Amino acid sequence: MAAPKVAVVGAGVVGLSTALCIAETCPSCSVMVLSDQFSPNTTSDVAAGILIPHTYSGTPIHVQKQWFKETFTYLFAISNSAEASEAGIHLVSGWQVFKNTPKEELPFWSDVVLGFRPMSEAELQKFPQHLFGQAFTTLKCDCPPYLLWLEKRLKATGVQMYTRKVADLWELHSEYNIVVNCAGIGAHQLVGDEKVFPVRGQVLKVHAPWVKNFIRDGDGLTYIYPGIHRVTLGGTREKESWSLSPDPGTTKDIFDRCCSLEPSLRGAQGIEVKVGLRPSRWCVRLQTEVLSQGGVKLPVVHNYGHGAGGFSVHRGTAKEAARLVRECIAALQGSTLRAKL
Ligand code: FAD
Repeated sequence: MAAPKVAVVGAGVVGLSTALCIAETCPSCSVMVLSDQFSPNTTSDVAAGILIPHTYSGTPIHVQKQWFKETFTYLFAISNSAEASEAGIHLVSGWQVFKNTPKEELPFWSDVVLGFRPMSEAELQKFPQHLFGQAFTTLKCDCPPYLLWLEKRLKATGVQMYTRKVADLWELHSEYNIVVNCAGIGAHQLVGDEKVFPVRGQVLKVHAPWVKNFIRDGDGLTYIYPGIHRVTLGGTREKESWSLSPDPGTTKDIFDRCCSLEPSLRGAQGIEVKVGLRPSRWCVRLQTEVLSQGGVKLPVVHNYGHGAGGFSVHRGTAKEAARLVRECIAALQGSTLRAKL
């Protein structure tokens, strides 16, 4: 069989990293990214990009931990290279604070991040409304630079990218041997998956270069994540809301909540408001499906539904999707061979 043609639908962090993993592990493939939007117009551009995992209720914890570990290891190597600043990847230390001691004092990811430990009494004095806290160092992606860095890597490996809205995955069957679905919240319409739903998030990006440590309220709703150029203040979690319009009342509420954690933010400048729709699902859909019409088959690898944690696990899920693509190629090569005999 000639070089298998693979179409990756979607150019958020999941689509771009999946296309890169396929190109890296299957150099004989011809890989194309098709997407109706590219950076800076994806959900991935809005994300805070901190590596603190979200928990997927429908995925075994050891699998989630593996995805997180692979992502952490990959980004840690970038943060430790000459490309760190261009890729927008850096280490950041800080605190996760709780008003009550959490049920799970040691989250499953505590031995993947660096230096995880309970906060000392002296540290807790910074947060008079909180009783308990965890201190650790993790990684943060500045999302638009990271997406551009992924696009640059893709171009360097010969992957082509086209602006195209796909109405139905079957429309790709005559042009491609395998399709990879990384459409994020777009999968709701593209494959009619009712299990994927939006969880709207509004964040503020501010200029406050004196803020060096991250602060996350344990409920995950209020957070301060310093990036290379701007600090992200969050947030909201509004289930089933499809609105992409910023809400001024919410902006004030986020700002006030963040200032109560870090009062110096009152002096922040240049507030920019962003809204994104987290592609939420009880588990990431990471599986192969074979579409078939009139005896013609099209293998599809799904990789979507990363919800609130796409940056934290993207490289791990991309590696697994690339493995599924290699399985599909082996099956196609096997059937071509059988047809020749
Ligand atoms: P997207 O970025 O939405 O990409 C989907 C792509 O598919 C787009 O390019 C779109 O144009 C394309 N597409 C869709 N339908 C079609 C179609 N029919 N035809 C062609 N193309 C199509 N995660 C973390 O790990 N850490 C964080 O700190 C964090 N903070 C967040 C803060 C906010 C406010 C929000 C909203 C999310 C946050 N997330 C965070 C979650 C993270 O942003 C998502 O999990 C991740 O961006 C999902 O990536 P994706 O590539 O699946 O989706």
